[in-house]
Parts: sequence; structure tokens; C-alpha cells
Amino acid sequence: MVISGTTRLLGIIGDPVHHSRSPEMQNRAVAEAGLDYVYVPLPVSPQRLSQGVAGLRALGIHGFNVTIPHKVAVLPLLDRLSPEAEAIGAVNTVHNENGCLVGYNTDGAGLVASLREELGFDPQGANLVVIGAGGAARAAIYALCAAGAQRLLIVNRSAERARELVRRYGKLFPRVRLEFRETLPSMLEDTDLLLNTTSVGMDGVSLSADPAALGENAVVYDMIYAPPESPLLAAARWRGLRCANGLGMLAAQGERAFTLWTGVIPLRGLMKSVLKS
Ligand code: NAP
Repeated sequence: MVISGTTRLLGIIGDPVHHSRSPEMQNRAVAEAGLDYVYVPLPVSPQRLSQGVAGLRALGIHGFNVTIPHKVAVLPLLDRLSPEAEAIGAVNTVHNENGCLVGYNTDGAGLVASLREELGFDPQGANLVVIGAGGAARAAIYALCAAGAQRLLIVNRSAERARELVRRYGKLFPRVRLEFRETLPSMLEDTDLLLNTTSVGMDGVSLSADPAALGENAVVYDMIYAPPESPLLAAARWRGLRCANGLGMLAAQGERAFTLWTGVIPLRGLMKSVLKS
């Protein structure tokens, strides 16, 4: 990669960002497409977020990703939001469109693409169980409802967080049967997809979800990708169910961000192969 006087700047803001795999996968996609961009990590603390975004604006940054803990706090610092970002209430991608900072959310679309590509699973008309009601769940549930889910049960430890999602998306998607429970039902035979959006499983701790309760055609998806096989996925694989971790979602949200910034579709599978290496 040659950085010259015309190279345009892309990056990722977060706190911390040193662990992010996005610089690696985005720069590989830039190089593969022969484009003149560079993507860099841009650590910024919550206390300095507004100064940070003002600085990026002043420097004419072309686009950036937003990660924990700024996905919600960045909203009032932007000029416009896409309909998805507005409905979800969180932004993971910003594009500088003629001086206007426009916020997008590509996480949910990335999840649906990953479900289709890796598991051949289409949410249209499906019966879904989503564990968690945090930021990742908000984007996931929006995209699953928009993709035509028939019934979606949210299971979360904190009742109020989940109830707020049922209210929010119930208005937006009146055709979807949205429900909430504090614990997972013991029988899940009619569930087509069990999706974990919580961080439980990253440290090897088991989620209180038993794939044995699922029917044999159900699929299991865990947004966690480190470790590559969470206890939930290990149990699903042992049961013989189709399952996948969140690596495909991470790659697919990145592909969508890349296309928003550059107008180019990255080489198919490239970002995922970078993440797997
Ligand atoms: P978040 O906003 O902090 O939400 C965390 C969720 O996990 C909440 O529902 C929380 O429940 C639940 N939770 C946390 N600890 C728990 C415990 N001990 N027992 C039961 N529930 C617990 O975080 P997030 O941004 O949604 O991220 C969640 C996970 O998704 C992380 O592992 C993240 O790495 C992953 N993720 C992956 C991708 C990808 O591309 N693959 C993208 C985004 C996020 P309460 O509401 O009760 O606190």
C-alpha cells in the first residue's frame, strides 16, 4: 500500500480499539481493489468523543467505524442518520457525504447476510429466539424483523431493557409477534433459530440455554467469535445442529461499510479469510 498526497482517510473510533481486526480486513480489501484509502485505529475516550468527532470532521475524514462504547453516544454528533440507524438508535459506520457526517448501522444486515451465507437460513416467516437485549441485539432484532421474521422471543436478564425493545419494534413491525421472557422456555421444538447476542460464553462460561430443547432442523448462531467455539456452539455441534459463530457477521458488516465508503463491493470472502488467518 502506497500512502500519497491523495490518500483518503478511513478509521475506527472506540475505547479501546487496539484489539480491533477491522484495520487488517479493511486495508486488505482496499489493497485488493487497488483503491487509494488507508484505514487506521483511532482510540478516543468517552470524555473526548465530541472533540474527537469534531477533529475528524475538520480533517475531512472520508469515513469511519464506531465501536464500543460510542455506538449510541455518537448519534447527536452526526448530521444525518440512515432510516436503519435511526430506528436502531445506534451507529457503527459513518460516511462523510460532501461535508455531512451520515450515520449508518450495518451490524444487523451483516448478521442476516451471515445467517444466509453460512447456514442457508432465511428469517422470512421464521420463529426466532434471541438471547440478549443490548446494543448488538437491537441491531439484530431490527434486521430480523425487517427480513420478515414471523415470531421473535427476546430472552434477557434485565426485563426493562427487553420490554423497551418489544415496545420499540412492536410499533415498527406490527406483523411480527414480538414477546419477552426472563428465562428461556424449556421446550423450543418450534424454534427455527436460536441466536445469542450476549457476551456470555466469551470467558468459557456457559449460557443457560440448552440446544437439546431445539428441534433437529433448528440452527444456532452465536455472535461471539473469540473463542471460535463458545459452550453454546459446542453443545449445538454435539447435538448435530447447524451452527456458526459471529466471524461472518463481523466480516459482512465490514463489507457493507466498505461499499458505503468506496462504492466498491469487496472481493467475496476476502474479509472473512483475513479474520480467520
Ligand atoms: P451490551 O450492549 O453490553 O449488551 C450485553 C448483553 O449481554 C445484555 O443483554 C446483557 O444483559 C447480557 N449479559 C451480559 N452479561 C450477562 C450475564 N452474566 N448473564 C446474562 N446476561 C448477560 O453488549 P453488545 O454490544 O450487545 O455486545 C454483546 C456481544 O455481542 C459481545 O460479545 C460482542 O463482542 C458481540 N458482538 C459481536 C458482533 C459481531 O460482529 N460478531 C457485533 C456486535 C457485538 P442485561 O441487559 O441484563 O445487562
